[in-house]
Amino acid sequence: MTETHRSPSRAAPVAGRAAGSHATRCISVANVAAALALAALPVIAPAAWARQVPAAQDTPLQARYRAAADRLIDAALADSSAWNRMARLVDTFGPRLAGSPALELAHDWILEEMRRDGLENVHGEPAMVPRWVRGSESAELVEPRRAPLPMLGLGGSVGTPRRGITAEVLVVGDFDELTRRSAEARGKIVLFDAPWRGYGPTVQYRVNGAIAAARAGAVAALVRSVGELPMRIAHTGVMRYDSAVSRVPVAAITAEDAAMLHRMQERGERVVVTLRMEARTLPDSPSRNVMGEITGSERPQEVVVIGGHTDSWDTGLGAHDDAGGVVMAWEAVRLMHRLGLRPRRTVRAVGWVNEENGTRGGLAYRDAHREGIRDHVLAFESDGGVFRPTGVGFSGSDSAMIVVRQVAALLGRIGADSVTPGGGGVDIGPITRLGVPSMSINVEGGRYFWYHHSPADTPDKIDPRDMARCVAVMAVMAYVLADMPDRLPWGVPPGEEH
Ligand SMILES: [Zn+2]
Repeated sequence: MTETHRSPSRAAPVAGRAAGSHATRCISVANVAAALALAALPVIAPAAWARQVPAAQDTPLQARYRAAADRLIDAALADSSAWNRMARLVDTFGPRLAGSPALELAHDWILEEMRRDGLENVHGEPAMVPRWVRGSESAELVEPRRAPLPMLGLGGSVGTPRRGITAEVLVVGDFDELTRRSAEARGKIVLFDAPWRGYGPTVQYRVNGAIAAARAGAVAALVRSVGELPMRIAHTGVMRYDSAVSRVPVAAITAEDAAMLHRMQERGERVVVTLRMEARTLPDSPSRNVMGEITGSERPQEVVVIGGHTDSWDTGLGAHDDAGGVVMAWEAVRLMHRLGLRPRRTVRAVGWVNEENGTRGGLAYRDAHREGIRDHVLAFESDGGVFRPTGVGFSGSDSAMIVVRQVAALLGRIGADSVTPGGGGVDIGPITRLGVPSMSINVEGGRYFWYHHSPADTPDKIDPRDMARCVAVMAVMAYVLADMPDRLPWGVPPGEEH
């Protein structure tokens, strides 16, 4: 499926974009012009816009790379190979929680397939990961009526005694309400019915709810699932304990059930729940980051590292989060190899391990590459869902930002030429804190938190054309930044300011 043959029924952010090849090229011109802040476009005969012909207003960098960028974009959009590989990965190996045998089988497969693709220096680098095991679990409403409550224990939680914990529930809307009513919380199960206010503010209840509940003397905690679209499914995710207070079990229930329990409490009804969880944490387990490269032709020690994380929660296939990111980076390198585009510097595709509940992969990568960290030109992660890309976010020096904007303009054809300040990812966090410039894909991610950390994060939620466009973004960015004669400048690394 090429860009110019996409279905007109898809909503296009730019009017007329779906109207065929000529219109697409015109829009592409407009995007380039906007990126370069040109006031007016000259009228140019359509023939001048044939691919491989540098646009008249291209900067020297754009003129140098427009043909290669177009080849990468065309190759990415030519078929659904990235989507197919993502679907094969998640369908074959299933959920891939850190420490699970399924994840290690997936790692074996990725390495084997990378070698088959002709990637170079394909290998795993060891990382010890936490091993949390869910076991069987349930929540049941006991009073005022009996009913099962769909739930998911939160990653890292302790379990309950075998017979479960049966206790009255205190529903609160936020931490402040719990503080005000803490005298009522002792011996109860505290339920945080915190409404969705965006991921950052809302996830606080999932991460810190068990600590706040224990501090108030509660015996367990429940949180309303952190998800944007209530479809009566539970969303899991990581949680924390604080050594100053006791460790109480914590689980997510659905938004609908949290609201119902809240209503019951407001009517003055006594709400009682039985929570049963077998969750436990086993000793750390050996795992690895998996990676393959296209080795640089002139400065192979200098690296553009791109990737996502291989692990997922144990409750779903983790298609968006983050099989998609791993496969997109891998596909970007595969396309360079297939097209014979070997950049001056190395491009390394990495599947980091244990993003979800430990970041041990990102930390192990930093430790393994700390000595050569200054040779890392850029770290580029995709971990925000696989939707239509709008461009990239970038964190680095102002002079690097100018270069990134020029490269992004080469993605105007697919509407992915915007650059916003601030880019990064959990897995690349440890090396970006050492000063490596960082980037992430920006996507039209309005639906990400419908599926996030739930059983609904499956391949059918990813449009193969959107995924192909994301591959194009990673491929063009990584290739150009790895090949440019002048290296993308670092800023002043943290801690070295004077
Ligand atoms: Zn993720």
